[in-house]
Amino acid sequence: MIDCDAFDVLHGSSQQAPLAPAAQADFDAHLEACPACLARLQSYVTLREVLRRLAPYDQPSLEQVPLPERLVSRLMAARAAALEGGQHKQGLGS
Ligand SMILES: [Zn+2]
Repeated sequence: MIDCDAFDVLHGSSQQAPLAPAAQADFDAHLEACPACLARLQSYVTLREVLRRLAPYDQPSLEQVPLPERLVSRLMAARAAALEGGQHKQGLGS
C-alpha cells in the first residue's frame, strides 16, 4: 500500500500521461482505502471542472490535459461504495 505522499506523486504523474498498470493499481488501491485522498481528489476534479467552465481560454495548462473519463467514473464508483458502506442494502436479490 502506498502512502498519501506517493499517491500525490502518482496523481501528478497521471496528469502528464496515463499511469503504468502497476502504478494505476496502487493509485486505485489507495483511493479505495483512504477517504481523505478520495475527498481531496473529488475536490480537485470539481475545481478543475469549474475552472474549465469559468476560464476556457485563460487556463491553457488545464485545458491541455482533459480529465480522464475513467478516473471520473472510478471516483463516482468509489463514492457510491463509500455511501453504501453506511447503509446496507437489503431486499436485493430475493
Ligand atoms: Zn491518502
